Amino acid sequence: MQDCLFCKIVNHEIPAEVLYEDDLVMVFKDIVPQAPVHFLVVPKKHISTIMDAEQNDSALLGHLLFQAQKIAKEQGCEEKGARFVINCKTDGGQTVNHLHLHVLGKRMLYWPPG
Ligand code: AMP
Ligand code: ZN
Repeated sequence: MQDCLFCKIVNHEIPAEVLYEDDLVMVFKDIVPQAPVHFLVVPKKHISTIMDAEQNDSALLGHLLFQAQKIAKEQGCEEKGARFVINCKTDGGQTVNHLHLHVLGKRMLYWPPG
């Protein structure tokens, strides 16, 4: 999608610190990390928010989550865990309108969020 930041990263038009890439997803480090490990798992297909996912995106969403835990393990988060977060629209605090899953690790996080 034109003028979408994450589409531009997926298309290699804007650089990112890529940790993993396949036909369906790209994984790259968050540019403003909120934890020692903070990466984003992004579908290559433009889906604006999780609310816009359709039935035929189910396998893609499963793949997204599976790759997230795989990279989290590679980043050393298996033993102590990590947080897997999808922000959605205004109330969810989403700022980039291309679906992405945050993974934050190597820092103790608390609940509920502020
Ligand atoms: P959200 O608020 O859930 O939409 O998260 C968007 C995330 O994208 C934020 O954590 C930003 O720090 C991150 N971000 C914005 N621009 C870039 C970029 N060029 N490369 C990597 N991460 C980015
Ligand atoms: Zn996009």
